[in-house]
Amino acid sequence: GVKRLRLPPWLKTSFPAGENYKRIKSNLRKLNLHTVCEEAKCPNIGECWGGGEHQTATATIMLLGDTCTRGCRFCSVKTARKPPPPDPEEPVNTAKAIVEWGLDYVVLTSVDRDDLPDGGSNHFAETVKNLKRDAPNLLVECLTPDFRGDLTAVSTLANSGLDVYAHNVECVRDFTWLVRDPRAKYDQSLDVLKHAKSSNASVLTKSSIMLGFGETDEQVMQTMQDLRDADVDCVTLGQYMQPTKRHMKVAEYVTPTKFKHWEGVGESLGFLYTASGPLVRSSYKAGEFFIKNILD
Ligand code: SF4
Ligand code: SF4
Repeated sequence: GVKRLRLPPWLKTSFPAGENYKRIKSNLRKLNLHTVCEEAKCPNIGECWGGGEHQTATATIMLLGDTCTRGCRFCSVKTARKPPPPDPEEPVNTAKAIVEWGLDYVVLTSVDRDDLPDGGSNHFAETVKNLKRDAPNLLVECLTPDFRGDLTAVSTLANSGLDVYAHNVECVRDFTWLVRDPRAKYDQSLDVLKHAKSSNASVLTKSSIMLGFGETDEQVMQTMQDLRDADVDCVTLGQYMQPTKRHMKVAEYVTPTKFKHWEGVGESLGFLYTASGPLVRSSYKAGEFFIKNILD
Protein backbone atom coordinates (compact mmCIF):
# COMPACT_ATOMS: atom_id res chain seq x y z
CA GLY A 1 0.00 0.00 0.00
CA VAL A 2 0.85 3.67 -0.04
CA LYS A 3 3.11 4.81 2.77
CA ARG A 4 1.45 6.86 5.44
CA LEU A 5 2.96 10.32 5.92
CA ARG A 6 4.65 10.98 9.25
CA LEU A 7 2.95 13.45 11.54
CA PRO A 8 5.04 16.65 11.55
CA PRO A 9 5.99 18.17 14.93
CA TRP A 10 3.57 21.12 14.62
CA LEU A 11 0.62 18.74 14.70
CA LYS A 12 1.69 16.83 17.81
CA THR A 13 -0.60 18.21 20.46
CA SER A 14 -1.86 16.78 23.69
CA PHE A 15 -5.48 16.76 24.71
CA PRO A 16 -5.86 19.34 27.47
CA ALA A 17 -6.73 18.40 31.02
CA GLY A 18 -6.64 21.69 32.92
CA GLU A 19 -8.74 22.41 36.00
CA ASN A 20 -11.01 24.77 34.13
CA TYR A 21 -11.61 22.19 31.44
CA LYS A 22 -12.48 19.48 33.97
CA ARG A 23 -14.95 21.72 35.74
CA ILE A 24 -16.71 22.65 32.50
CA LYS A 25 -16.78 19.02 31.40
CA SER A 26 -18.55 17.88 34.55
CA ASN A 27 -21.07 20.72 34.24
CA LEU A 28 -21.72 19.67 30.67
CA ARG A 29 -22.93 16.24 31.72
CA LYS A 30 -25.67 17.90 33.72
CA LEU A 31 -26.61 20.19 30.83
CA ASN A 32 -26.94 17.29 28.39
CA LEU A 33 -25.27 19.12 25.50
CA HIS A 34 -23.38 17.37 22.71
CA THR A 35 -20.30 19.27 21.71
CA VAL A 36 -18.27 18.74 18.57
CA CYS A 37 -15.30 19.91 20.65
CA GLU A 38 -15.43 16.73 22.75
CA GLU A 39 -16.64 14.31 20.11
CA ALA A 40 -13.94 15.34 17.64
CA LYS A 41 -11.36 15.48 20.49
CA CYS A 42 -10.52 18.91 19.18
CA PRO A 43 -7.01 19.98 20.21
CA ASN A 44 -8.21 23.57 20.70
CA ILE A 45 -10.64 22.76 23.46
CA GLY A 46 -8.45 24.29 26.18
CA GLU A 47 -8.20 27.57 24.32
CA CYS A 48 -11.80 27.73 23.14
CA TRP A 49 -13.49 26.68 26.36
CA GLY A 50 -10.87 28.24 28.59
CA GLY A 51 -12.52 31.60 28.64
CA GLY A 52 -9.61 32.87 30.78
CA GLU A 53 -9.27 36.49 31.75
CA HIS A 54 -9.11 37.99 28.28
CA GLN A 55 -10.66 35.13 26.43
CA THR A 56 -14.00 34.51 24.90
CA ALA A 57 -15.54 31.15 25.78
CA THR A 58 -16.58 29.40 22.57
CA ALA A 59 -18.07 25.97 21.96
CA THR A 60 -19.66 24.08 19.09
CA ILE A 61 -22.95 22.31 19.82
CA MET A 62 -24.56 19.56 17.73
CA LEU A 63 -28.25 19.76 16.90
CA LEU A 64 -30.50 17.20 15.17
CA GLY A 65 -28.80 14.06 16.45
CA ASP A 66 -25.56 12.24 15.78
CA THR A 67 -26.46 10.41 12.57
CA CYS A 68 -25.98 11.93 9.12
CA THR A 69 -27.84 11.09 5.91
CA ARG A 70 -24.64 11.69 3.94
CA GLY A 71 -21.17 10.20 4.06
CA CYS A 72 -18.21 12.43 3.27
CA ARG A 73 -14.83 10.78 2.94
CA PHE A 74 -13.14 13.04 5.50
CA CYS A 75 -15.77 12.77 8.21
CA SER A 76 -16.23 10.12 10.91
CA VAL A 77 -19.83 10.92 11.85
CA LYS A 78 -22.05 7.82 11.56
CA THR A 79 -24.53 7.64 8.70
CA ALA A 80 -28.01 6.22 8.00
CA ARG A 81 -30.64 6.78 5.33
CA LYS A 82 -33.30 7.46 7.94
CA PRO A 83 -31.88 8.70 11.26
CA PRO A 84 -34.19 8.93 14.30
CA PRO A 85 -36.57 11.93 14.13
CA PRO A 86 -35.33 15.12 15.78
CA ASP A 87 -36.32 15.85 19.37
CA PRO A 88 -38.99 18.59 19.16
CA GLU A 89 -37.94 19.88 22.58
CA GLU A 90 -34.33 20.32 21.51
CA PRO A 91 -34.53 24.00 20.42
CA VAL A 92 -35.88 24.99 23.86
CA ASN A 93 -33.74 22.69 25.98
CA THR A 94 -30.50 23.30 24.12
CA ALA A 95 -30.94 27.04 24.31
CA LYS A 96 -31.58 26.82 28.06
CA ALA A 97 -28.48 24.72 28.62
CA ILE A 98 -26.26 27.02 26.53
CA VAL A 99 -27.47 30.08 28.43
CA GLU A 100 -26.77 28.28 31.70
CA TRP A 101 -23.24 27.37 30.55
CA GLY A 102 -22.54 31.08 30.14
CA LEU A 103 -20.66 31.02 26.83
CA ASP A 104 -19.82 34.25 25.01
CA TYR A 105 -20.01 32.74 21.55
CA VAL A 106 -21.75 29.58 20.45
CA VAL A 107 -21.60 27.69 17.18
CA LEU A 108 -24.67 25.58 16.41
CA THR A 109 -24.06 22.89 13.85
CA SER A 110 -25.66 19.68 12.65
CA VAL A 111 -25.34 16.62 10.51
CA ASP A 112 -27.08 16.74 7.12
CA ARG A 113 -30.74 15.75 7.44
CA ASP A 114 -31.78 15.12 3.84
CA ASP A 115 -34.64 13.02 5.26
CA LEU A 116 -36.40 16.11 6.69
CA PRO A 117 -38.53 18.27 4.36
CA ASP A 118 -36.86 21.49 5.56
CA GLY A 119 -33.44 19.89 6.14
CA GLY A 120 -33.73 20.90 9.79
CA SER A 121 -33.57 24.64 9.03
CA ASN A 122 -36.54 25.51 11.26
CA HIS A 123 -35.00 23.55 14.10
CA PHE A 124 -31.87 25.73 13.81
CA ALA A 125 -33.93 28.91 13.55
CA GLU A 126 -36.01 28.04 16.64
CA THR A 127 -32.87 27.38 18.68
CA VAL A 128 -31.41 30.75 17.63
CA LYS A 129 -34.63 32.57 18.55
CA ASN A 130 -34.72 30.96 21.99
CA LEU A 131 -31.07 31.82 22.58
CA LYS A 132 -31.41 35.43 21.54
CA ARG A 133 -34.52 35.89 23.68
CA ASP A 134 -32.81 34.57 26.81
CA ALA A 135 -29.27 35.86 26.19
CA PRO A 136 -29.33 38.81 23.77
CA ASN A 137 -25.58 39.42 24.14
CA LEU A 138 -24.56 35.89 23.29
CA LEU A 139 -23.10 35.77 19.79
CA VAL A 140 -24.57 32.98 17.72
CA GLU A 141 -23.06 31.32 14.68
CA CYS A 142 -24.78 28.56 12.71
CA LEU A 143 -22.61 26.19 10.71
CA THR A 144 -25.17 24.61 8.45
CA PRO A 145 -25.57 21.86 5.87
CA ASP A 146 -26.36 22.99 2.31
CA PHE A 147 -30.08 22.18 2.80
CA ARG A 148 -29.84 20.63 -0.72
CA GLY A 149 -29.64 24.16 -2.04
CA ASP A 150 -33.09 25.06 -0.63
CA LEU A 151 -32.80 28.85 -0.57
CA THR A 152 -35.99 29.29 1.47
CA ALA A 153 -34.37 27.26 4.22
CA VAL A 154 -31.27 29.46 3.95
CA SER A 155 -33.16 32.74 4.20
CA THR A 156 -35.29 31.48 7.11
CA LEU A 157 -32.12 30.85 9.03
CA ALA A 158 -30.36 34.02 7.86
CA ASN A 159 -33.28 35.99 9.32
CA SER A 160 -33.58 34.09 12.60
CA GLY A 161 -31.44 36.53 14.57
CA LEU A 162 -28.06 34.83 14.22
CA ASP A 163 -24.83 36.81 13.93
CA VAL A 164 -22.76 34.57 11.67
CA TYR A 165 -23.95 32.26 8.91
CA ALA A 166 -21.30 29.61 8.19
CA HIS A 167 -21.30 26.92 5.54
CA ASN A 168 -18.15 25.09 4.54
CA VAL A 169 -17.00 24.40 1.01
CA GLU A 170 -14.58 22.01 2.81
CA CYS A 171 -12.05 21.78 -0.04
CA VAL A 172 -11.13 23.28 -3.41
CA ARG A 173 -13.50 22.86 -6.36
CA ASP A 174 -11.73 19.99 -8.13
CA PHE A 175 -11.50 17.83 -5.01
CA THR A 176 -15.17 18.20 -4.06
CA TRP A 177 -16.29 15.00 -5.81
CA LEU A 178 -13.56 13.05 -4.05
CA VAL A 179 -13.83 14.53 -0.58
CA ARG A 180 -17.50 15.31 -0.01
CA ASP A 181 -20.65 13.23 -0.36
CA PRO A 182 -21.82 13.20 -4.03
CA ARG A 183 -24.90 15.22 -3.05
CA ALA A 184 -22.68 18.12 -1.97
CA LYS A 185 -21.79 20.45 -4.83
CA TYR A 186 -19.22 23.21 -4.83
CA ASP A 187 -21.43 25.71 -6.67
CA GLN A 188 -24.42 24.82 -4.52
CA SER A 189 -22.36 25.65 -1.43
CA LEU A 190 -21.33 28.99 -2.94
CA ASP A 191 -25.02 29.70 -3.68
CA VAL A 192 -25.97 28.97 -0.07
CA LEU A 193 -23.38 31.47 1.15
CA LYS A 194 -24.34 34.09 -1.42
CA HIS A 195 -28.01 33.74 -0.57
CA ALA A 196 -27.45 33.95 3.19
CA LYS A 197 -25.78 37.33 2.65
CA SER A 198 -28.29 38.66 0.15
CA SER A 199 -31.26 37.73 2.33
CA ASN A 200 -29.78 39.55 5.33
CA ALA A 201 -26.91 41.96 4.70
CA SER A 202 -26.20 42.42 8.42
CA VAL A 203 -25.26 38.76 8.85
CA LEU A 204 -21.60 37.81 8.51
CA THR A 205 -20.86 34.83 6.30
CA LYS A 206 -18.03 32.40 6.73
CA SER A 207 -16.57 29.29 5.10
CA SER A 208 -13.78 26.81 5.74
CA ILE A 209 -11.34 25.01 3.51
CA MET A 210 -9.27 22.00 4.54
CA LEU A 211 -5.85 21.66 2.96
CA GLY A 212 -3.72 18.57 2.47
CA PHE A 213 -5.78 16.51 0.01
CA GLY A 214 -3.24 17.19 -2.74
CA GLU A 215 -4.64 20.46 -4.10
CA THR A 216 -2.39 22.97 -5.85
CA ASP A 217 -1.77 26.57 -4.79
CA GLU A 218 -3.70 27.79 -7.83
CA GLN A 219 -6.71 25.76 -6.75
CA VAL A 220 -6.58 27.19 -3.22
CA MET A 221 -6.22 30.69 -4.61
CA GLN A 222 -9.22 30.17 -6.90
CA THR A 223 -11.37 28.87 -4.05
CA MET A 224 -10.53 31.87 -1.89
CA GLN A 225 -11.42 34.12 -4.80
CA ASP A 226 -14.69 32.22 -5.39
CA LEU A 227 -15.64 32.73 -1.73
CA ARG A 228 -14.89 36.44 -1.91
CA ASP A 229 -16.93 36.68 -5.12
CA ALA A 230 -19.82 35.07 -3.22
CA ASP A 231 -19.57 37.93 -0.68
CA VAL A 232 -18.20 35.67 2.03
CA ASP A 233 -16.78 37.77 4.90
CA CYS A 234 -14.60 35.31 6.77
CA VAL A 235 -12.53 32.33 5.73
CA THR A 236 -10.63 29.71 7.69
CA LEU A 237 -7.98 27.30 6.41
CA GLY A 238 -6.75 24.28 8.35
CA GLN A 239 -4.98 20.96 7.87
CA TYR A 240 -7.07 17.90 6.95
CA MET A 241 -6.46 15.08 9.43
CA GLN A 242 -7.50 11.52 8.60
CA PRO A 243 -9.98 10.51 11.34
CA THR A 244 -9.65 6.72 10.84
CA LYS A 245 -7.84 4.35 8.48
CA ARG A 246 -11.04 3.98 6.44
CA HIS A 247 -11.05 7.67 5.56
CA MET A 248 -9.17 9.59 2.90
CA LYS A 249 -5.42 9.69 3.35
CA VAL A 250 -3.59 12.92 3.96
CA ALA A 251 -1.64 13.73 0.81
CA GLU A 252 0.38 16.56 2.33
CA TYR A 253 1.04 18.23 5.64
CA VAL A 254 0.99 21.89 4.74
CA THR A 255 3.66 23.84 6.61
CA PRO A 256 2.87 26.61 9.11
CA THR A 257 4.70 29.02 6.79
CA LYS A 258 2.37 28.14 3.95
CA PHE A 259 -0.66 28.63 6.17
CA LYS A 260 0.73 32.04 7.11
CA HIS A 261 0.98 32.81 3.41
CA TRP A 262 -2.73 32.03 2.90
CA GLU A 263 -3.58 34.31 5.79
CA GLY A 264 -1.86 37.15 3.93
CA VAL A 265 -3.70 36.22 0.74
CA GLY A 266 -7.00 36.33 2.64
CA GLU A 267 -6.22 39.81 3.89
CA SER A 268 -5.28 41.06 0.45
CA LEU A 269 -8.47 39.63 -1.04
CA GLY A 270 -10.44 41.73 1.44
CA PHE A 271 -11.90 39.17 3.84
CA LEU A 272 -12.86 40.72 7.19
CA TYR A 273 -10.85 37.98 8.80
CA THR A 274 -8.82 35.02 7.71
CA ALA A 275 -7.80 32.35 10.20
CA SER A 276 -5.20 30.05 8.72
CA GLY A 277 -3.02 27.50 10.51
CA PRO A 278 -2.46 23.75 10.79
CA LEU A 279 -4.80 23.39 13.76
CA VAL A 280 -7.35 26.00 12.74
CA ARG A 281 -10.88 24.61 12.63
CA SER A 282 -14.01 26.31 11.38
CA SER A 283 -14.92 27.50 14.87
CA TYR A 284 -11.40 27.98 16.23
CA LYS A 285 -11.53 30.92 18.64
CA ALA A 286 -14.39 32.27 16.56
CA GLY A 287 -15.58 34.46 19.40
CA GLU A 288 -12.24 36.17 19.83
CA PHE A 289 -11.91 36.90 16.15
CA PHE A 290 -15.42 38.24 16.04
CA ILE A 291 -14.96 40.58 18.96
CA LYS A 292 -11.45 41.75 18.07
CA ASN A 293 -12.00 42.23 14.35
CA ILE A 294 -15.63 43.01 13.87
CA LEU A 295 -17.06 44.71 16.92
CA ASP A 296 -14.07 47.00 17.61
FE1 SF4 B 1 -19.96 14.62 8.02
FE2 SF4 B 1 -21.34 16.81 7.35
FE3 SF4 B 1 -20.52 15.09 5.46
FE4 SF4 B 1 -22.47 14.43 7.17
S1 SF4 B 1 -22.53 16.06 5.59
S2 SF4 B 1 -20.77 13.14 6.54
S3 SF4 B 1 -21.76 15.42 9.07
S4 SF4 B 1 -19.21 16.38 6.81
FE1 SF4 C 1 -14.77 23.36 19.81
FE2 SF4 C 1 -14.38 24.45 17.40
FE3 SF4 C 1 -12.95 25.27 19.50
FE4 SF4 C 1 -12.50 22.88 18.48
S1 SF4 C 1 -12.14 24.82 17.45
S2 SF4 C 1 -12.70 23.36 20.66
S3 SF4 C 1 -14.58 22.26 17.87
S4 SF4 C 1 -15.18 25.49 19.25
